[in-house]
Amino acid sequence: MRRKLIVGNWKMNGNLAGNQVLLGGIKEGAGNIACDLAICAPSPYLAQCQSELANTTIAWGAQDLSVHESGAYTGEISGVMLRDFGCRYVIVGHSERRTYHSESDELVAKKTLQALNAGLTPIVCVGESLAEREAGQTDIVVGRQISAVLAAINVTDLEKIVVAYEPVWAIGTGKTATPQMAQDVHALLRAKLVTTSPVADVKILYGGSMKPDNAKELLAMSDIDGGLIGGASLKAADFLAIGGAV
Ligand code: 13P
Repeated sequence: MRRKLIVGNWKMNGNLAGNQVLLGGIKEGAGNIACDLAICAPSPYLAQCQSELANTTIAWGAQDLSVHESGAYTGEISGVMLRDFGCRYVIVGHSERRTYHSESDELVAKKTLQALNAGLTPIVCVGESLAEREAGQTDIVVGRQISAVLAAINVTDLEKIVVAYEPVWAIGTGKTATPQMAQDVHALLRAKLVTTSPVADVKILYGGSMKPDNAKELLAMSDIDGGLIGGASLKAADFLAIGGAV
């Protein structure tokens, strides 16, 4: 039985004072939540997450990492550095990075490998654009994205990754995939993962306008193992309500 996981992706939001309030609120309510919780904060605030969350059940992580291990790569942050700040997770291949930073399937696969090498759990994001969905290419696109990662990692490491299905057209738009639409893609991803390793029980999260009022029906689907939450993770009450919907 896969334990459900709700991850907040703060994206480029927050400040020290505001984070203090948000983290305080989440800590206060986390005791009543029956699933695992994690926060992926902007990198400058990972030290704050570490000091605020160290003795709690809430994990934390980053939103990206360098494809390189160390060296002359100005502005980059390595997986080992993220581990230094206690990160358990790192998001890899978010559609905003694929779109705004031209991250290819191959780069995402290499970053996944770097995360695993550093002892982090990569949350590997896949998802189709609106044009791709309308052209009937959803299966091809997410299949290609996940296959690149599966080809790059050692099969024994498969159980160390988390996959997130985030249809690009549902991110920050208020448009959510229906539970059945999401389930169909999750089932396809599950089939690929099981073919790669029948024993690895990989979590597949859904992301894209998941909110307190739609979380329950999405999380009830058999292959949806949790959520990757953007906007609704910026309010403690909303984030906790999604956790409470598990
Ligand atoms: P929203 O929940 O704001 O749609 O963002 C989803 C997302 O991109 C999480 O990574």
